[in-house]
Amino acid sequence: MLVFAKIISVQQKIESLKSGTSIGFVPTMGALHEGHLSLVEKAKNENDIVVVSIFVNPTQFDNADDLKNYPKTIDKDLSLLKSTNCDIVFTPTPEEIYANNIQSQSFDFDGLEFQMEGKFREGHFNGVGTIVERLFEIVKPNKAYFGEKDFQQIQIIRKMVEKRNLPVKIIACPIHREKDGLAMSSRNIRLTKEQRVSAPFIYKTLKQAKAEFGTKNALEVVKWVENEFKNHPLFNLEYFEIADEYTLLPVETKNSTKKYRAFIAVFAGKIRLIDNISL
Ligand code: AMP
Repeated sequence: MLVFAKIISVQQKIESLKSGTSIGFVPTMGALHEGHLSLVEKAKNENDIVVVSIFVNPTQFDNADDLKNYPKTIDKDLSLLKSTNCDIVFTPTPEEIYANNIQSQSFDFDGLEFQMEGKFREGHFNGVGTIVERLFEIVKPNKAYFGEKDFQQIQIIRKMVEKRNLPVKIIACPIHREKDGLAMSSRNIRLTKEQRVSAPFIYKTLKQAKAEFGTKNALEVVKWVENEFKNHPLFNLEYFEIADEYTLLPVETKNSTKKYRAFIAVFAGKIRLIDNISL
C-alpha cells in the first residue's frame, strides 16, 4: 500500500498505471471504522485498484469546534487500510488542496442542498461539492463509493456528476451498523459511556417510524418521533423528516410509485449524529 500526501505524487502514480486499469475511489475524513472498510472492500471487488483519501475537509464544517474536535487517528487508519485491499492512500494537508484560499465554490444542486442537512449546516454541501470534485480531478476514478449513512450527500454528488458531466460512476453502499443498531460513525468515539449505551435509541426510533408509516401519514409519524424525543434525557432531536429519495422534499401524500426515506439528526450533547432508513 502506497501513501502519498502530495497531489503531484499521487497523480504521477495514477498516470503510471497501465492503460485500462480501473480505479475505485473511496473519499473519507479518516477516523476509519468498519463502515469505511466495507466501502473499500466493495471498491476492490469492482476495480483493479483502490484509492482511499483521508482528508478532514475544512470547508464542509459549519462549526469551528466540530472541525477542531473531529477525531484524527491517522496511524490507526493506515494500519486498518493495510489490513484491507487498499492500494493507494492520499493524505493531503488543507494547504495542498486549497493553497492559501480555504474556500468553497458555490454549487447549484437543483434545491437538494436546501433540504435537511442543508437547512442546519450552512455551506456544508458547497464544501462537499468543492472537495469531491477536486478529488475526482486528482484521482480520476472510474467509480467512487459513498455510504448511504450520508444519503443526502450521495444524491448531491450524483447531481454534481450529472450537471458537470463528470466521467465517474457513483456507487451507493449500505449503512454499516454496530451490533446494537447504532450507525457507525467517526463521531461515535466522542460519545460518553452513557450516551453510547443509549444511542441505539436513534435507530430503534427509525425502525418504529418505518412501521408507523405503514398505517399513518408522514405528518403523524413526524409528530410521533418528535414526541419520542421530547423528554429524552440525553438526546435532542434536530430534525426528523420523511422525504422523497430523489427530490429529498418532505412527503405530503404517499404515492406508491415513489421511494421514501426517513432522515434524522440528533444531538448528544455537542455531538451530532445522523441516520436514515428506507421506508
Ligand atoms: P466520512 O469519513 O464520515 O466522511 O465518511 C466517508 C464515507 O464513508 C462516506 O461516503 C460515508 O457515507 C461513508 N460512511 C461513513 N459511515 C458509514 C457507515 N456506517 N456505513 C457505510 N458507509 C459509511
